[in-house]
Amino acid sequence: MEKGKMMKAWVIDKVGPLSPDSLKLVELPVPEVKEDEILVKVYFCGICHTELDEIEGRVTPDILPVVPGHQIVGEVVEVGPKVKKFKIGDKVGAGWIYSSCQRCEYCQRGLENLCQEFKATGKDANGGYAEYFKIKETFAFAIPEGLTLMEAAPLFCAGAIGYRALKLTQLKGEEGETLGLSGFGASNHLVLKLVKALFPKVKTYVFARNPKQREHALSLGADWAGDFEETPPEGLKAIIDTTPVWRPLLLLKNLKPNGRFIINAVRKEEQDKEKLLFLDYGRDLWLEKEIKSVANITRQDLEEFLSLAKRLKLKPEVIGYHFYEAPKALLELKEGRIKGAKVLTMVNF
Ligand SMILES: [Zn+2]
Ligand SMILES: [Zn+2]
Repeated sequence: MEKGKMMKAWVIDKVGPLSPDSLKLVELPVPEVKEDEILVKVYFCGICHTELDEIEGRVTPDILPVVPGHQIVGEVVEVGPKVKKFKIGDKVGAGWIYSSCQRCEYCQRGLENLCQEFKATGKDANGGYAEYFKIKETFAFAIPEGLTLMEAAPLFCAGAIGYRALKLTQLKGEEGETLGLSGFGASNHLVLKLVKALFPKVKTYVFARNPKQREHALSLGADWAGDFEETPPEGLKAIIDTTPVWRPLLLLKNLKPNGRFIINAVRKEEQDKEKLLFLDYGRDLWLEKEIKSVANITRQDLEEFLSLAKRLKLKPEVIGYHFYEAPKALLELKEGRIKGAKVLTMVNF
């Protein structure tokens, strides 16, 4: 790539309530690759609720302005001198894990997601809302065959974090196991597909406030779908909550003794925090119920999940937005008008 070449990119440059100009379209130099880095021409980038958390200040990027986006799929167009795993022309993807120290006790134990020096793509390093993106080769992954590049994009966050959340439920796929899914957007619709393919004996119960999302869940094979006040026909061994609000904690009453409630959210919003006052210790928490958050992802999560997606022919339902529609896509995400996963497309640019 000739030196000084410029690219188009969306950046977040300040924190504040989401508005049509929360993202700014700018020209930035195409990143220069060194050592073991690869330069990726971005074809697709998934859109995630975390972008809203960054804009609205619930998580703070290490750098501002920052190019958001951490579900990146594209083609390798340049490689650093030490790159071994990829060559020019390879189709690759990258997710939320941009790098970790590889030395600390967490990294040594395969818990890179908890590393103090964990750097997140599109937050602590520039991400994929741009024409080009660079990353160390060890944190990039080949795209599984059998998927279009567009379908692959949401696997890199919504899918991989959903997979990690499912692992944390400790479900084994046995007869009689039950799983609740709270919220039904990009991540939980993939968890449902994963459970149907991997654990066909597990019954799934979906909680969503939007009737369209409940219909969507039933059409994908959920055993039941209801609003948050409704009671599913049986107790739940685990629940995965992907919503940005607090009300779903009241679903704890539906957990069986020793059940696990997994919160798959980077942050919760403040708007309905008073709902927590309605928690009843005896009904909702006693009998060794557990609440556990899921944080970030490891390279192993991505490797395992991508190979599962290939084996199980797991296809996310995607809605495409043109690169220039990024601000609109974020506003629609905020309004909760979601069915499947939103993806920015830079093809035919
Ligand atoms: Zn994400
Ligand atoms: Zn570390």
